[in-house]
Order: sequence, then structure tokens, then C-alpha cells
Amino acid sequence: MTERSTTLIHHPYTPPAGFNAPQPGVFKASTVIFANTAAMRARDWREKLGYTYGLHGTPTTFTLEERIATLEGGTRCLLTPSGLAAIGLIDFALLRTGDEVLIPSNAYNPGKELARHELAGWGIGLRLYDCMNPQSLIDGITPATKLIWLEAPGSVTMEFPDLAALLKIARDRKVVTALDNTWGSGIAFNPFEIAPGLGVDISMHALTKFPSGGGDVLMGSVTTRDDDLHTRLKLTHMRTGLGVGANDAEAVLRGLPTLVMRYDAQDRSARAIAQWCASRPEVSQVLHPALAGSPGHEHWKASCKAAAGIFSIVIDERYGSTQVDAFVDALKLFKIGYSWAGPVSLVVPYDLKAIRPREEWKGTLVRLCIGLEATQDLIDDLDQALRALH
Ligand SMILES: *Cc1c(COP(=O)(O)O)cnc(C)c1O
Repeated sequence: MTERSTTLIHHPYTPPAGFNAPQPGVFKASTVIFANTAAMRARDWREKLGYTYGLHGTPTTFTLEERIATLEGGTRCLLTPSGLAAIGLIDFALLRTGDEVLIPSNAYNPGKELARHELAGWGIGLRLYDCMNPQSLIDGITPATKLIWLEAPGSVTMEFPDLAALLKIARDRKVVTALDNTWGSGIAFNPFEIAPGLGVDISMHALTKFPSGGGDVLMGSVTTRDDDLHTRLKLTHMRTGLGVGANDAEAVLRGLPTLVMRYDAQDRSARAIAQWCASRPEVSQVLHPALAGSPGHEHWKASCKAAAGIFSIVIDERYGSTQVDAFVDALKLFKIGYSWAGPVSLVVPYDLKAIRPREEWKGTLVRLCIGLEATQDLIDDLDQALRALH
């Protein structure tokens, strides 16, 4: 079998006649001109048999959609202007007044906010479930449940759920599942084949993170293996005008050939730094699914080949939040800011009790996103900044 990295570099692409460059071109347009009225009427944007209007796709966005579908292990893909817009597209396409959506309590927070404030206004109910307790999912499903979100691992607190168990519950009850696959990125595991014959219906991905890799693009994707489901999503995509610009698509296309290499490098570096953090007396817990003792480590081990370069540390409760802020402020290479998977390492302190009241965790949580700097330089930076705690 050809490795994913090779497939992404040698992905099919037909350049314009006489210009045999391997890099896809950037095609920008709103208007696409038809030869005559018959040609205009014959075009079917749904089946991508031709181009109709820039918002519905250009050769550049079609090429990126095909490559993301390959990356994710799916067959059909839609691009959106951000990862959050991809979450919104899935919600808007599948939920109607009176329906309910189930979201893990540790999921990416803006997705929960969207449900709380926008979906609620349209009479769509939100239920949260504890992804580490499959019974909690069973208890949350009602006849009104039309969509179950999954995320592995959870944002910030990094618990890795038993995806196969959760998917089986959803499938037995015939509820559509959507996974936020930003962390796995199509590399750590195949979302459509979590276990033999068992996979998600929809994989959503913030291409802003690993596929772009530059920290300079916002984009999302929605990938499926099911033509009918894809058509449903595509109709909502068209009606809500969620197309993407060709320059942004090109920036992600440039990121794809180095994706696997960057993911592996950040994975290696993050594990080394996480191990180092675990040895420090100031750190009471390291939340990294590939580390033994991290919540859901056994589930990670059962389904993953790799891990993203992102993890959280819990600073011992004997240090107050002012001291933790001083530690974060003392970091020089780690910059304070949201997002991850770019070249620059990032740090954000979180109030653990505010995001999720978990009794066993005391202290302040700090999330570290490992960039592409030399691992030892990042360890040295953490080492000097930890002195600010004392
Ligand atoms: C960043 C992120 C998103 C949203 O992506 P944007 O492009 O920033 O809107 C969604 N889910 C997860 C897990 C993310 O990390």
C-alpha cells in the first residue's frame, strides 16, 4: 500500500495542455462563461460535471476537495471558510426545529456556543454528554436526536474516548455521526474505519491547523463516503454561500505535500516535551493521549498510529493563577495565542474549573501547542519560565 505522504504528493492532477508542472494552478472567478444557453442549462453543479459559478467551485477548489477526501479516507468533500463554518454547515444541513443535537461536554467550545446561541434560537435542542462514559451517550439519545458530534481527543482537556463504542451506540439507534477530526488530521486514524465495518458518517476538519500548517489561512472541510449525505450537505453549502477563495485553497494545497512530515515532527517533539514536563515537580499532570496515565490513553493506543503536537499540563495547585500567568508571560519562544499546528509554538492558560468542573483535577491548566522549533530550545524555554513560578 502506498503511504499517505506519497499519495498526497502524487495525487491526480491534469495541468493545462503544454504546461506540465506538478503544482496545481490557481483559478479565480466569480463568473464562468457558457458557450451557449444549452450549455448553461445542461450544467449540473451538484455532480461537478462542469463549472457554473465561482462560489460552487473552481478547478483549484475541486482539486483541494479531492485531496482532502483522500487524506480523510472519504470520497466526497466540501470546503468552508473556516473550521467553525464547517461545524455550522453540518448543523444547518441536518437539524430542524424540534430536533436535538448531542455534543461531548469537552468538545471545541465555539461549536457548543453555536448550538447554545444560534441553534437554540431556531428551536433545536442541545444535550451534552460525557464522551468517556458511553452510558451518558445512551442516556442522552431521544427520538428527537438527529446528530451526534464526536471529538477525539477533547479540546484542551485531551481525554481520548472509546470511539468504536460511541459509534456503535449511534449506529444501533440510526443517528448520524459527525467527528471533529482536526486533531487526527487524517493521519492519526481513519475516521471512516475506526473498527472493522464501523466509521463516522461525516468527518469535519479545521484545515486552518495541520493541512495549512502556516498559521496564515482559515478553512474547514466536510468529508463523507455517502453520496446522499454529501448532496444534503452540498445543498445547504450552496444555499448559505459558504465557498472559499482560490488563493486560500492554493495555500492549503501547498501545505499538503509536507503535511505528514510536519505532523510526525510535531508529534515527536511534543511527546519529548510532554515527557520532560511529566518529570517536573511543578506539573501535577500531563494530558497527552499518547502518554500512559493520560485519560483515555488505552483508547488512543487501540485506534491511533500517531498523535498531534498539542497537549496540556496541569500546574500544581500550590501555585496560584497569578504565578501561572507569570510562568506563561516568562515564555519567550512559546507565544500566547489561539490555534495550533503552525511553525510557532503557542501557549494558553485555562481556568480548569470554568471549562469543566472535574473534581480530581486541581490547579491551573496550560495548553502547549508545539511548533517546528528545535525541541531542546522549547524545553530550555519552559525550564527558564518555570522559575517564574517560584
Ligand atoms: C481550530 C479548531 C476548530 C475551528 O477552526 P477555525 O478554522 O479556527 O474556525 C474546530 N475544531 C477544533 C478541534 C479546532 O482546533
